[in-house]
Amino acid sequence: MTFPSPEGATPAMAQWFALKAEHPDALLFFRMGDFYELFFNDAEAAASALDISLTARGTHGGEPIAMCGVPVHAAQAYLARLIRRGFRVSVAEQTEQPRKGRPASKGPLRREVVRLITPGTLTEDELLEAGRQNLLAAIICPTGRDASDPGLAWIDISTGLFETATVPPRDLNDLLGRLDPAEILCADTVELGDFATRRTPIVPPASADAARQRMAEAFGVASLDAFGTFSDAEAMAAAAAIDYIRRSQAGQLPRLSHPRPSDSSDILGLDPATRASLDLLRTRDGETEHTLFAAVSRTVTAAGSRMLADWIAAPLTDPERIARRQAGWTWLLDKPGIRDDLRASLRAAPDMARALGRLSLGRGQPRDAVAIRLGLGVAREIGAILNRHENLPPIVEQAARHLDRAHELEDLLGRALSENPPARMDDGGIIASGYDAELDAQRELRDGSRRVIAALQQEYAAEFGIPNLKIRHHAQLGYVIEVPAATSARLRGREDLIMRQGTASASRFSTERLVSLDQQIAQAAENAGMRERHLFTQVVGKILDEAALPDMAAALSCIDIAQSCAVLAGGGMWCCPAVGTDTSFVIRAGRHPVVEAALPRNARFTPNDCDLDPDHRVMLLTGPNMAGKSTFLRQTALAVILAQAGLPVAAQAMRLGVVDRLFSRVGASDDLARGRSTFMVEMTETAAILNQAGPRSLVVVDEIGRGTSTLDGLAIAWAVLETLHSTLRCRAIFATHFHELAELADTMPRLSPHTMSVREWKGQVIFQHEVIPGSARRSWGVHVARLAGVPDPVVRRAGRLLSTLEKERGRQAPPLPLFEQATADEAPAPPPTPALPPAALDMIEDLDPDTLSPRAALEMLYKLKKLLKS
Ligand code: ADP
Ligand code: MG
Repeated sequence: MTFPSPEGATPAMAQWFALKAEHPDALLFFRMGDFYELFFNDAEAAASALDISLTARGTHGGEPIAMCGVPVHAAQAYLARLIRRGFRVSVAEQTEQPRKGRPASKGPLRREVVRLITPGTLTEDELLEAGRQNLLAAIICPTGRDASDPGLAWIDISTGLFETATVPPRDLNDLLGRLDPAEILCADTVELGDFATRRTPIVPPASADAARQRMAEAFGVASLDAFGTFSDAEAMAAAAAIDYIRRSQAGQLPRLSHPRPSDSSDILGLDPATRASLDLLRTRDGETEHTLFAAVSRTVTAAGSRMLADWIAAPLTDPERIARRQAGWTWLLDKPGIRDDLRASLRAAPDMARALGRLSLGRGQPRDAVAIRLGLGVAREIGAILNRHENLPPIVEQAARHLDRAHELEDLLGRALSENPPARMDDGGIIASGYDAELDAQRELRDGSRRVIAALQQEYAAEFGIPNLKIRHHAQLGYVIEVPAATSARLRGREDLIMRQGTASASRFSTERLVSLDQQIAQAAENAGMRERHLFTQVVGKILDEAALPDMAAALSCIDIAQSCAVLAGGGMWCCPAVGTDTSFVIRAGRHPVVEAALPRNARFTPNDCDLDPDHRVMLLTGPNMAGKSTFLRQTALAVILAQAGLPVAAQAMRLGVVDRLFSRVGASDDLARGRSTFMVEMTETAAILNQAGPRSLVVVDEIGRGTSTLDGLAIAWAVLETLHSTLRCRAIFATHFHELAELADTMPRLSPHTMSVREWKGQVIFQHEVIPGSARRSWGVHVARLAGVPDPVVRRAGRLLSTLEKERGRQAPPLPLFEQATADEAPAPPPTPALPPAALDMIEDLDPDTLSPRAALEMLYKLKKLLKS
């Protein structure tokens, strides 16, 4: 955006130019009385984004100045819209009060930018999504010859969360996918992929030492080491994030929890393509309906939703931690009474974490302090419900301990805050009477004088003989006697009455007595207001001093998740999976929770088993379109995510050896916007799997090779399947329309061919959505075409062509021998070279050392050696 030069500006506009220069890329909300006004290009941009009228005010350089404005009381709603449209906004407030007798020659009132509002620095409920974190991330990518790994820091200033990580460059996008930050601070040179639009360019801190120093100062410790081990890049990213927040909050830093270095090695690896294919928290269109989250969440608090979303976004890999989470909800399964009590109490729980965030920034309103008071009460109540029971599972017991704290603060807030506090601080009345003697005295003075005035009204009315005489408070005149104009003649000539105003209908007078009472009241009201603000600040200080609150808020969320899971699983359709360290994998009667929920009322979801245990760990799934292949693939991936997040799974039973990385490539994802064809995208994603999957991984891939010619596609699908089976040795489901591949089962011992059962009935296909052993013999493509409404003549013609083609090919064996001679360097997407030939690996895997006789072992060695030589 270009703005006119400030030259020749009026004093008011000169002030605008100076403030605009502080954050040139943000729209400037310039406070003028009861409005925020925007000028020049800012006005044009905002008027069109907000659909409000654009006018002009004065001129600059001979041109009219474009202007628009929004009323202060409604500003939040407008801000929310601007932020959602991708704008940044700086807010300039009047920081000097207009005083009587202030000469106009002193120029405009002082104004200062008090805040920069960007997507990553929001604190107001109106601007935030209640059930999701709102993260600001910073990335430092060291460059140069022996550059270390990138460092990240992420902060949610609305709740104080602060974590950091160092990740290999190739995992950067996985982590961003998990965090889904609202704003990313990093240099222009860092490749951000799909996240590029969220970048805010920054200049990184000058050195790691300087960054560590600044971090230590911000948290009042001698050295950052107090909180853990941070790489240089991590420390610099953390300092960059803190600097940015400080700048955006006009120098103030919210209270953040200590930075915590996080280790992503104990989190299930999910790359962005996998997340995109599974609709975990949002669909590809950004919707929250029809997501895994929506299907499983029965939380009743916003903070509980945030924590649940975080669990789903970052499933664990440590069976012990998973079991700990599971134990939190399984003990509630047979206790519907407690579950209902917990839900009832939680429903009243306010969002303590976000209220705390605002209070710590000095942006707290009375309702935020009230939220803390209410939260403390709910926490104590829930703590009491839990403590009535013995043998609580550890995760619940720990929560219960955090809930039963801060009694002193609760007592203080109970005494200090009034029952029904006002919405805004300025309205007065937030501090309860009886809490502070001085405040009570000022209020008494104020209200006492008001009572005197009320008495005075009757007195004057009698004295003047005007029964409908009123004493009113008037904004400019203060307290005045008001009489109907018709009666004012009776008061003429009375020396003690001072005529203040006469209109056609009423006359207004004041008296010395009224003036002095007025002054008394005004003074007492002002004193009471000052005292009240002072007391409120004190109370807020006490709240911020209470170290137990963040843990308490987290404990409430944890209990909310526990009851949510118990409610979900209480219906009997969800199970608690057994998660261990082996590589087993069995799901009995699994379902896709989102597809199931979206089925029409008269349709029933067909549950399916999935068995990927070690001796048949690769499932080859064939079947026609619309038969349910993609759904089966996705539901299996979702089951792993739910299981490892410690949540209930939509199945009758599940046994799972933890998965370290989950790869899901389901559903076409054309990336034409970035100029890559479907096939190119498919191959890039396949390459990512082949380069990263290992024996603990689960790979579900759909229709590999569909984007190219049949032979090409078949060749690639075959080679990929071989690699998954024999080299990477992962668990996998491989869905394909190349039925020929099923014949590979003869040469691949761990391959188990399955197909979707289809029935033909009176020339129509019926999809039963059932996964059965075997392989599809036909594609049913022509039938699907009819189903989709392709005109009958075309379908019939296609049917005839198909039979001719099939006859020509004589239903021969597939053209497999074509590829038999493929050598390693001809193979597509070269997989990592296996250390041992597949046959040898299979042999070792089959052998059970405990039952092997010395002689058999020796024979085995000879065989292995021979295999290696061949
Ligand atoms: P494919 O990948 O084989 O073409 P999809 O998985 O896309 O088939 O499924 C097509 C439709 O069939 C889904 O949108 C869903 O409505 C229905 N469907 C799939 N699986 C099931 C199931 N197990 N039970 C009931 N309906 C299902
Ligand atoms: Mg499909």
